[in-house]
Amino acid sequence: MNAPAPLSWPCPLCDRPCNGPVHEGCQAKVDENLTALPALYVQLADALYPGRRGGDGRTGTRTAPLPCNEEALDLRSRGGIAGVLSGWTLDLYEREGWQSFPVFGSVETAVTEYAKILRINLPWIIDQHPAAREFADEVRLIAGQARRLVTGETPPRRVTVSCPCGGTMRVTLDTPGARCPGCSTQYGHTEVLQLPAAERRTAA
Ligand SMILES: [Zn+2]
Ligand SMILES: [Zn+2]
Repeated sequence: MNAPAPLSWPCPLCDRPCNGPVHEGCQAKVDENLTALPALYVQLADALYPGRRGGDGRTGTRTAPLPCNEEALDLRSRGGIAGVLSGWTLDLYEREGWQSFPVFGSVETAVTEYAKILRINLPWIIDQHPAAREFADEVRLIAGQARRLVTGETPPRRVTVSCPCGGTMRVTLDTPGARCPGCSTQYGHTEVLQLPAAERRTAA
């Protein structure tokens, strides 16, 4: 008996061919990001006032309030990490017709609990949700943004790539995708990063 030829479908999270419902690695990354978000939320409290970490030895030279990191503040607000997670959880409840969508008093509890619900339902979301990829992308971007703020890394470098039509797009390595302004082709994350780098135009 001959083994059947392996069938391949596009992975719902990256669109590359896959011999199962989803690449294990792609699913594991979403799970990893969801698992990391509650801890990142807590750690972001330290990123709110970057000047207070890792002192430079000088003390009490100034008492003026330190500027607050707006990006960290946004992520810790109810519309930040908690907003992204509650939006997708609400979507899940509506699709499944589940009653009593849970609402949590503290933002920190909301992040923890919604991340938990989404992790439990991750296989279903990947298998059934028409926007599974958008979900994975949003979770990756918000976790990436939080990690950068927590570790103090600089934002990812932007590169300019060119479409066969001649149009160019400025993208980062963690871009979910981009649309070519020239021909309106929508590129996914992998596709856009496979495009050739645009030649640097020398200033006239
Ligand atoms: Zn994949
Ligand atoms: Zn184009």
